[in-house]
Amino acid sequence: MPYTITLIPGDGVGPQIVEAARRVIDAAGVPIDWEVVEAGEAMIEKCGTPLPQYVLDSIKKNKIALKGPLTTPVGKGFRSVNVTLRQELNLFANVRPARNLPGVETRFSGVDLIIVRENTEDLYGGIEHCVGRDAAESIKIITREASMRIARFAFELARREGRRKVTAVHKANIMKLSDGLFLECARQVAEGYQDIEYEEYIVDAMCMKLVQTPENYDVLLLPNLYGDIVSDLCAGLVGGLGVAPGANIGEEAAVFEPVHGSAPRHAGLNRVNPLATILSGVMMLKYMGEMDAASRIETAVLKVLKEKKSLTYDLGGSAGTSEMADAIISAMK
Ligand code: NAD
Repeated sequence: MPYTITLIPGDGVGPQIVEAARRVIDAAGVPIDWEVVEAGEAMIEKCGTPLPQYVLDSIKKNKIALKGPLTTPVGKGFRSVNVTLRQELNLFANVRPARNLPGVETRFSGVDLIIVRENTEDLYGGIEHCVGRDAAESIKIITREASMRIARFAFELARREGRRKVTAVHKANIMKLSDGLFLECARQVAEGYQDIEYEEYIVDAMCMKLVQTPENYDVLLLPNLYGDIVSDLCAGLVGGLGVAPGANIGEEAAVFEPVHGSAPRHAGLNRVNPLATILSGVMMLKYMGEMDAASRIETAVLKVLKEKKSLTYDLGGSAGTSEMADAIISAMK
């Protein structure tokens, strides 16, 4: 029986990178029926919303989705589709590995991090209002339930993947109650995992440490906003957004997507790096238990990176999105 997986092409560069990833995953030999559902800007005119109900229904039914990035207008317009999707499906854990790849030159070596970001609350509740004409207020919500859940997820992941340390990142010196609660939960969960080292950093100090000695860190556990920011920083440590995959995982469903956004200025140019989405597909295959197919793709990706012949502009090459995918498919044969 083939798997049925929801495929969301997304906005901007989304359709081209998602198509590249789909071709690579299909070439790895796992039978998949892709259920393509459109979300994003184009749906506003057609359906009156960037996130039609059938998108949520499709993911709820299939339980797994591969997703391209979706645009969120800045300062006005509709609420973030990404945030809504994560909240509606209760995809509480955002997992973003950042690891040096052979052939991808960066300023750093020995980086092998997994960022675990709480994905459902914090300032992403979108609860904000104006106070008169000259002030605005956003409400940050941190709950014990969500903090315990994400802390347990981080420690379980650390144990499962043979990781040595979990670092909780916070700003509890200033937000003593909200970040204080997040930290209290992380500490409580850490007590049950004596085999895994636990430490804490204030987010600003963490950023400095990550650009000085990233090799010293392993699994990072963060509330939503810091996780969002720090994961782009970590993508920068290992070659940029073009190589940074991600997963949003819940009890009932999982959505795999690159860390990067819709990069509108590159839309339709067949230019950007498909690797972040392809590697998100590898995370998806591993989640499905399809280890052979996942490792086939990983080996082919490493070969293409080492050969340096079919790389996109961000990795110093001149290949297009589809050429890089073709090279990965050829390397699998
Ligand atoms: P972005 O991540 O889309 O792009 C920033 C820059 O990073 C690009 O201009 C490009 O230079 C580089 N880049 C991104 N992806 C790349 C790739 N695959 N290969 C090579 N280079 C790449 O960030 P942005 O411009 O701030 O955001 C654009 C839109 O995407 C916004 O509307 C934002 O809300 C949205 N967004 C969506 C998601 C998501 O769907 N999960 C995530 C982040 C941002």
